[in-house]
Amino acid sequence: MDYKIRTWPDKILKQKMKKVDFFDERLEDYIQNMYRVMYEEDGVGLAANQIGIPYQIIVIDTTKRDKKGEDKEEGIKLELINPKIIHKEGNVQSTEGCLSFPGIQITIPRAEKVKVVAQDINGDEIEIETDGFLAIVLQHEIDHINGIPFINYLSPVKKKLILEKYMKLKKETSRRKN
Ligand SMILES: [Zn+2]
Repeated sequence: MDYKIRTWPDKILKQKMKKVDFFDERLEDYIQNMYRVMYEEDGVGLAANQIGIPYQIIVIDTTKRDKKGEDKEEGIKLELINPKIIHKEGNVQSTEGCLSFPGIQITIPRAEKVKVVAQDINGDEIEIETDGFLAIVLQHEIDHINGIPFINYLSPVKKKLILEKYMKLKKETSRRKN
């Protein structure tokens, strides 16, 4: 299958993904493809539905890279199966982009700290408690598998404006490609 970034308003970005109950080669294959596309697109996180895989899987790599792809600053790399936020604490304003909304950057409220439970690639339960950038990426990606795009945190007026700007950008980009 050819996995490509799905962009808004693709309907898979609005749906809650299915729970993974298979911890085998198929899951490994999904995860490999998710990392591949994430690195190709220069992302720090990716949810499975962003490339059309209908399951609760996210991958994250916060390693900062230079243009040549050589590692500059070692970050955290992890893949989470069926992740869920079980605790949130504090409030921060977060400026975020999203591979499914190319060209758009918005500032939205996020929790400062999160506690997440998930399974690893073998199906074993893991728990992560973190803050800072990783906490933000976790919230963004876990929202994706629950069908919640980051624009949902904007006020209705702002959301409308941002979506108009985005649809205009999208039209211009596709015109250039055709
Ligand atoms: Zn996103």
